[in-house]
Amino acid sequence: MNLLIMKFGGTSVGSAERIKNLKKLVVDERPKIVVLSAMSGTTNALVEISDYLIKNNKEGAITKIEELENKYRKTVEELFEKKEFKEKGHELVRQHFDFIRSFTTDMFTVHEEKIILAQGELLSTTLFHYHLNECQIPSVLLPALHFMRIDEHHEPDFAYIEKHLKEELSKHPGTKLFITQGYICRNAFGEIDNLKRGGSDYTASILGAVLKSPAVEIWTDIDGMHNNDPRFVSKTHPIHRLSFDEAAELAYFGAKILHPTCILPARNKNIPVWLKNTMQPEAHGTLISQFEPEDGFRAVAAKDNITAISIKSGRMLLAYGFLRAVFEIFERHKTPIDMITTSEVAVSLTIDDTSRLNEIQKELSEIATVEVDHDQSIICIVGKLPRNHAGYAAKVMNALKDIPLRMVSYGGSENNISVLLHSQYKVKALKLLNKHLFGYDEEI
Ligand code: ADP
Ligand code: ASP
Ligand code: MG
Repeated sequence: MNLLIMKFGGTSVGSAERIKNLKKLVVDERPKIVVLSAMSGTTNALVEISDYLIKNNKEGAITKIEELENKYRKTVEELFEKKEFKEKGHELVRQHFDFIRSFTTDMFTVHEEKIILAQGELLSTTLFHYHLNECQIPSVLLPALHFMRIDEHHEPDFAYIEKHLKEELSKHPGTKLFITQGYICRNAFGEIDNLKRGGSDYTASILGAVLKSPAVEIWTDIDGMHNNDPRFVSKTHPIHRLSFDEAAELAYFGAKILHPTCILPARNKNIPVWLKNTMQPEAHGTLISQFEPEDGFRAVAAKDNITAISIKSGRMLLAYGFLRAVFEIFERHKTPIDMITTSEVAVSLTIDDTSRLNEIQKELSEIATVEVDHDQSIICIVGKLPRNHAGYAAKVMNALKDIPLRMVSYGGSENNISVLLHSQYKVKALKLLNKHLFGYDEEI
């Protein structure tokens, strides 16, 4: 079928003007599925509305709903030319916002929250579809809730997705342009769920993998993966090529441009992923594929809200079962470990999901002394750092010599050096690395 996947993020559909601009990017001869996020700010607003409802603050929720609805009314007025399409647009907005308002009168749980969170992508895709209709550009809207599914472990159910997506596609032979929602899915019970914040990237990569697409293009508001986080350092440059492993590492450790696990499906099926800028389509962007990078540092990223756990036991001395006992506790509580360092009598590790921390801490305390530190950040330095070359770790340590480091991890792969530090030092550390590893003149 050879369908290209093009995903556009929140800012790329963030206003009527942007939506019109999008049309120019998707209308060409290549058959494709266009995956859209919600308009920028929408998912945050829907989270806020849900927070009000969870706290039983109906008035707060209603005010926020009205504010968001007005934004959509304005978009409809600006997006459509003809009366007929303006009416269709307003009717769509009315339906979705009446639906959202209906949750203000009843009990509200996380289940209802997920239904509310799904409205953003449903709105953006339908508005774009109507816009193409008005411009007489043929397109088909594919309902993601008919084929996107996660299993009981919250992992994509690839077999289900492939079967049901292909069924949906086969209903529209000859169609060149499909549109679908990113982020939203159903769970193992058939309920509406999502792929976590930023999940539209993940949708795109999953679709690319199940369809063996020629490429997945992720269009956003910046010209590709940069060497450092542009939100915190003043000078950065785009990286033209990244290997799958480098990109996966950067995404997982906080490079916001990509959802943490979205590279994995594309990597498993060897599908190239392009990161492109909607505002500057002619810029090269970043190509993520299977390739052998040159030696050296490529980029750094930071991940916040990390919790460090130190586990100390006299029994570890020569006790080969100790680490297993520790890992089993994390496994039982389905809590992934990100970083780990050991000494003869102690092990330190980090987690970012603290939902089971109390239980984990209690079980660890039965075999060891446990200390927990919150508000930590992992800084991940990615590149090709061959084991037989001297100096990479030294350069990183030298750059960060004035910052207290809680943990250091090197040698897990040839791809990364990670350090853990208190989040108050994060920005300073990113700036120092920008200066010492990439030669930028950062004010620290
Ligand atoms: P979208 O809404 O299109 O999904 P996101 O806001 O999720 O866009 O991701 C793009 C943003 O990621 C950029 O505007 C930039 O501020 C941020 N970002 C963080 N780290 C990086 C990086 N290393 N390279 C590029 N962008 C980054
Ligand atoms: N709209 C969702 C979010 O804001 C998904 C995404 O944009 O990728 O997280
Ligand atoms: Mg995103």
